Amino acid sequence: MLALQGDFREHLNVLRKFGADAVPVRRPTELAKIDGLVIPGGESSVMDKLSRTFHLREPLIKAIQSGLPVYGTCAGMIMLSKNILDGIKGQQSLGAIDINVRRNAFGSQLDSFEVDLPIPVLGEPPLHAVFIRAPVIERVGEGVEKIATLADGRVVAAEQGQILVTSFHPEMTEDHRFHKYFLEKVRKAA
Ligand code: GLN
Repeated sequence: MLALQGDFREHLNVLRKFGADAVPVRRPTELAKIDGLVIPGGESSVMDKLSRTFHLREPLIKAIQSGLPVYGTCAGMIMLSKNILDGIKGQQSLGAIDINVRRNAFGSQLDSFEVDLPIPVLGEPPLHAVFIRAPVIERVGEGVEKIATLADGRVVAAEQGQILVTSFHPEMTEDHRFHKYFLEKVRKAA
């Protein structure tokens, strides 16, 4: 669990509920010991800066290249994307999944909203999804699977190899099928 900034405590609770030995990661030595990583929601520009301050950026990129399963929600999705649209000046991402992501894509009048989203990989029922100053996926590269779209067609969750991303926050509701799905990926990869 990347614990530089954001709502990592909520994720830790969910992961532990499923029996995972989930720990906060702030140092390269901690990163070296894990089998999977969750990057939480929060503020991607701050997380990006802290990842450099804590000397985690390069180790993160290396770990991803060697196949570490990573799940990013909201700001975590922005961190994992290849390209950030509307980032702050100098904001960098980890380039783990071939998508372009627009920050704060829903504008101020639709700052936060909730919607029931059909998600085929999770089956029935649809997932109640909470969006908070959420990003949207504007381009999906070859080899990236779209796993959730809004009624208007905008892509809000995707997967490529070991990388899973959602614009919304499954840690904030009682429906934790995304965490379960991710832990399954981690078990398979380990
Ligand atoms: N808008 C935030 C960002 O740019 C993301 C919001 C969130 O994680 N809830 O990082």
